[in-house]
Amino acid sequence: MSDYLRYRGPKIMAVANQKGGVGKTTTAINLGAALAREGRQVLLIDLDPQGNASTGLGLSPDRREVTTYDFILGDASVDDAIQATNVANLSLIPATQDLSSADIELIANEKRSFLLHDALRDPRIEKRSLDYILIDCPPSLNILTVNAMVAAHSVVVPLQSEFFALEGLSQLMLTIREVRANANPDLRIEGVVLTMYDRRNNLSQQVEADARDNLGDLVFSTLIPRNVRLSEAPSFAMPVIDYDPTSTGATAYRDLAAELIARERA
Ligand code: ADP
Ligand code: MG
Repeated sequence: MSDYLRYRGPKIMAVANQKGGVGKTTTAINLGAALAREGRQVLLIDLDPQGNASTGLGLSPDRREVTTYDFILGDASVDDAIQATNVANLSLIPATQDLSSADIELIANEKRSFLLHDALRDPRIEKRSLDYILIDCPPSLNILTVNAMVAAHSVVVPLQSEFFALEGLSQLMLTIREVRANANPDLRIEGVVLTMYDRRNNLSQQVEADARDNLGDLVFSTLIPRNVRLSEAPSFAMPVIDYDPTSTGATAYRDLAAELIARERA
């Protein structure tokens, strides 16, 4: 399965953590938008049946005629599935509830873990000269998240700065190891990003210290602060860098994009 030597398409990053509410969707939207602002061509794939990334980028459910579900099942081509967003250089494959039945339906499919991988190894993706594909995963280590990890080059792990944050990580790391062993030996961890960080809070500092002790350089230097602008922006169908460019949230996601690009060069 080591097809990456020949691979000339975009870098594929899964944004994953089986816990809900840790900042996956916020990170997928805002890191994606910040990379797009840097002039990179970015595609966001919404792989969560809740469709929060689709809503947050302004794609109302009635405009989601072709979805990730059609795309992974091969019922729609990339060209039919990709939609433009209001953000320059950022496109989207949206999700709807129908993805939630994928878990059950895919059990019978022999290639069930490879559907997204195969759908993305399409020459039409190369033609679009994308630089990054970000996959917004559901809050579970289910077949959808496994599809994202099998398709991806790396995993971005948002970690909420709260007490049990690190406990869930071992389960996530185990899944990454299994995917490496069975399907995608080159899968890397792009980085762990601390979200909803509160500098004045001892607990945030403790979680950060623990994360850096345990994970070392895997933890991004950039901290994403708790910032109400980040939670408001989706209801205005905007990434935070457009909704409030001077907010601490906007600054943090721009910094995260810059750090990611700098790490790639190093
Ligand atoms: P997930 O996709 O992991 O379930 P979300 O990105 O949807 O998590 O975030 C969960 C909730 O927390 C959302 O309401 C979101 O707006 C809010 N949120 C996420 N990150 C931040 C942050 N850094 N500051 C404030 N609110 C945040
Ligand atoms: Mg989400």
